[in-house]
Amino acid sequence: MQAARIHHHGPPDALVLENLPDPRIQADQILLRVRACSLNHLDLFVRAGIPGMKIPLPHILGSDISGEVVQVGELCQRVQPGWRVLLSPGLSCRQCAHCLSGNDNFCRRYTMFGYAIDGGNAELLAAPEYSAIRIPDDMTFESAAATPLVFLTAWHMLMTRARLQPGEDVLVLSASSGVGSAAIQIAKLFQCRVIATAGGERKLSLARELGADHVIDHYQEDIAAQVRHFTAKRGVDVVVEHVGAATWPHSLASLAAAGRLVTCGATTGFEAPLDLRFLFSKQWSVLGSFMGTMGELHQVLQFVFRRQLKPVVDRVFPLAEIAAAHRYLENKEQFGKVVVTP
Ligand SMILES: [Zn+2]
Repeated sequence: MQAARIHHHGPPDALVLENLPDPRIQADQILLRVRACSLNHLDLFVRAGIPGMKIPLPHILGSDISGEVVQVGELCQRVQPGWRVLLSPGLSCRQCAHCLSGNDNFCRRYTMFGYAIDGGNAELLAAPEYSAIRIPDDMTFESAAATPLVFLTAWHMLMTRARLQPGEDVLVLSASSGVGSAAIQIAKLFQCRVIATAGGERKLSLARELGADHVIDHYQEDIAAQVRHFTAKRGVDVVVEHVGAATWPHSLASLAAAGRLVTCGATTGFEAPLDLRFLFSKQWSVLGSFMGTMGELHQVLQFVFRRQLKPVVDRVFPLAEIAAAHRYLENKEQFGKVVVTP
């Protein structure tokens, strides 16, 4: 099979297309013919190297995967050859107390495709049977691959961590990101008022098309001042953060009393100040969020499969151009998901 691998961490050119032996499945695994795999910022981090995190090399990236099942192991009972599926990006031991109580994203052995194990930037992939989720016949592989990681992440952030209530005011940072485009739609599903940020006129109007009630150009305007303007000085109930150092002070300043800031990433830097006077006097909650459970994935996928939530595919690259796809995401040119097809 063909696969894109890294043999060392580095810039996009570290990704090389190679011919490899086909993967062999274990008894509890399925063999997937990968049809599409979307990029996440995680791909950029893993490619460049994460301090303190050892990735086995050579390594195949790619966490968000869809395809056709071509073979099932002898212990598999549910999945059938020929099924069109997407894969749950999160993998866990399925045996510890966290896993058995449904919180598989707390498992000590939790990982994702393309992180501690090989991912979907290949023509074939061996995956555990439990990770395969059947997709509707009319759903494209590109849309399916653009769905799991960002919709799961945004769902866990809003519904589980921030306990979003219908009708609340929500600020979503960076509508053009995968998580941002998912968070806007989930908040609108619950009749919330959504304020979204984006850079430039084109992305602002795309954010409106996704359902944002108000938009803020984060390169031109003061986010917190605009939020106060749109909310009659009150601020928002929930802020969806994943940008980090560059936006953190503006995110906090946008919170109403008893507001919740929930963050799942920090693409612009990890160090961010917090003035404790505001934390306690305004009774804010600052919440961390990481992926989500498989139960939540099934929950949010119901809405995607019913077309009440729509994955946003910006652009599709062939696997041979994966380095260009990485550069495209790195340069923030996209609105929504960048997909690679083998
Ligand atoms: Zn576990």
